[in-house]
Amino acid sequence: MPELDDKVRDLLSHYDPATTDKAEFLGARFDAGLAWVHFPRGRGGLGVSRGEQERVDALLAAAGAPAPDVGRNSIGMGMAAPTLLAFGDADQQERYLRRIYTCEDIWCQLFSEPGAGSDLAAVATRARLDGDTWIVDGQKVWTSGAHHAQRAILVARTDSSVPKHAGLTYFVVDMSDPGVEVRPLRQITGEAEFNEVFLSGVRVPNSDRIGDVGQGWKVATATLNNERVAIGAGAAREAGQIGVVADRWRRDPSVRTPGAQAELLAWWVETEVTRLAGVRLRQQLEAGVPGPESSAMKLAFARQAQEISGLALELAPEEGLLYDDWTMTRTERPSFLGRGPGFRYLRAKGNSIEGGTSEIMRNVVAERVLGLPADHRPDKGIPFKEVPR
Ligand SMILES: Cc1cc2nc3c(=O)[nH]c(=O)nc-3n(C[C@H](O)[C@H](O)[C@H](O)COP(=O)(O)OP(=O)(O)OC[C@H]3O[C@@H](n4cnc5c(N)ncnc54)[C@H](O)[C@@H]3O)c2cc1C
Repeated sequence: MPELDDKVRDLLSHYDPATTDKAEFLGARFDAGLAWVHFPRGRGGLGVSRGEQERVDALLAAAGAPAPDVGRNSIGMGMAAPTLLAFGDADQQERYLRRIYTCEDIWCQLFSEPGAGSDLAAVATRARLDGDTWIVDGQKVWTSGAHHAQRAILVARTDSSVPKHAGLTYFVVDMSDPGVEVRPLRQITGEAEFNEVFLSGVRVPNSDRIGDVGQGWKVATATLNNERVAIGAGAAREAGQIGVVADRWRRDPSVRTPGAQAELLAWWVETEVTRLAGVRLRQQLEAGVPGPESSAMKLAFARQAQEISGLALELAPEEGLLYDDWTMTRTERPSFLGRGPGFRYLRAKGNSIEGGTSEIMRNVVAERVLGLPADHRPDKGIPFKEVPR
């Protein structure tokens, strides 16, 4: 699209990537509408087709321009931004979108609780209105990146006299509020990527409520569908675990046995089919918010990551036994692919839990894509406060 090429040229002529500060460059890119081109003008985009993004990214990368640190701000970029665009008001979009894109604000997701993971609608963290401020009390868990986040998206219960899905409201939380306490949780890999978060009298202005009171489930569903696309739909061929194994196969003849070759080829084809289904899903996204099909993508991604990282260990078993680094680290950039094969194998275990477990993904696909009979729901229609807990 000529207008886009002109805009890219114009941006580069005013902001030399070699000498401009990264946040300043990204801010200027946002202002030029080249951040998320399918977002509206004034909100980081130009209202053009989402498919144009790849071209803009490629042109800017070729000019040596800095890109946002998606690994560090995956929740801000992949989940908070599209949710704010769909449900936030003009003031909220104005305040948050640009700083998400420049990564001046890192975001985390305060959804899961000790008693509400798969059944997210069962959250017990309460928010009550005091004047024009909400007071939040409760406990969250598995909160990735909470230790370096400035903001969080939160689902909290604002009415327990109605059935569980109807009594939820969605908020933005300032993680520097004195009532927010973040404690590390160590994973099977040794890293503490995520945390427990205790919320005690946390104050949230009503202007940071996203959507209407009681409409939190609708907003959260949009976030979760975006999360599944963000997790499941890699853009490039051989971008995930298959790329690491295929690369090893090409470089190292000692791993090439006939049995392993058949397995590698089968997984290569399956990951490619999943990647192409992701392309289709992104086309579907152009027509609005992502649908439940994103669950199938996430399900396939998790299975492939686990099976292929297992294949990598079979190809080089001694390397897998030698774990590279067991030091507890508070990483700011979770990586599915970094470090040795032992790390990749262990980290892939979380892929079928994070963003919704594979069992739940199968339920979503069965009910909402295939139209099969619904899972048994004993608490349906019962006020939340009357559900035995
Ligand atoms: C690496 C990682 C990062 C995460 N990051 C975040 C984050 O940033 N923010 C956040 O809010 N959460 C995060 N989570 C939490 C994650 O979303 C939850 O762990 C997940 O939704 C499962 O919830 P749960 O752990 O409470 O398990 P449960 O819901 O207690 O499930 C236990 C088991 O029962 C199965 N099960 C439950 N209900 C059903 C059913 N109806 N039918 C069939 N099987 C069922 C589940 O599939 C699972 O196998 C993260 C998790 C991981 C592993």
